[in-house]
Amino acid sequence: MTRSSGGRGEPRRELATLVRSLGHYLQFQAKVGLEWVPWERADAMKSREETLAEVRADLGECTRCRLHATRRHIVYGEGSPSARVVIVGEGPGEDEDVQGRPFVGAAGRLLDAIVAAAGWRRDELYICNVIKCRPPRNRNPQEDEIDTCGPFLKRQIRAIRPRAILAVGNVAARFLLASETPISGLRGRVHDFEGIAVVPTYHPAYLLRNPVQKRRVWQDLELLLQVMGGKSGG
Ligand code: URA
Repeated sequence: MTRSSGGRGEPRRELATLVRSLGHYLQFQAKVGLEWVPWERADAMKSREETLAEVRADLGECTRCRLHATRRHIVYGEGSPSARVVIVGEGPGEDEDVQGRPFVGAAGRLLDAIVAAAGWRRDELYICNVIKCRPPRNRNPQEDEIDTCGPFLKRQIRAIRPRAILAVGNVAARFLLASETPISGLRGRVHDFEGIAVVPTYHPAYLLRNPVQKRRVWQDLELLLQVMGGKSGG
């Protein structure tokens, strides 16, 4: 079906019809008791959060910090854009750098086991990191690298607005909670990031070296499940 061309006066007529209809609609609303029009709420709705894809597009082929020079792939994050749980790690290691995906190496396999133990499927969560590029030889991210990349993580979280965040390891927990306290002092309690529950726990790479701490991670997962109301995370 083709639309009628209508000539040059057509858009103006359409606008006049629209304004008339709006007038009738408002008269009707006034008759049934409308006393004010919620323009402010309409404005708030207009300034909606950006989407994960929009944040990714802004990140682009990032060269904002020195890590771009040695990375193979940006590891943006993956999973459901409507996840109820977001898992945040530190930054990509070698396997992640090669594949461009978060938590796919040895620590990732342990994280998968933790996710399964909680009764979740990996694809119903969203998994990402504080920094998106691998530091050389897996050194700790430097402060200026976190300052540059961290805001993208915050934008990802705002785009998803999950019910809870599982922050694994020192870097993720300290960054999200703007805290200097080590993970051992942050874990075991529920914290807050912009109204979203944050449960810090040990990093799976640390657990591989210290399996005795798995018990504590399980306690933290139970806390997270309580926050979620005992329901699945997706
Ligand atoms: N460690 C992390 O913190 N993130 C990954 O994606 C992989 C290992």
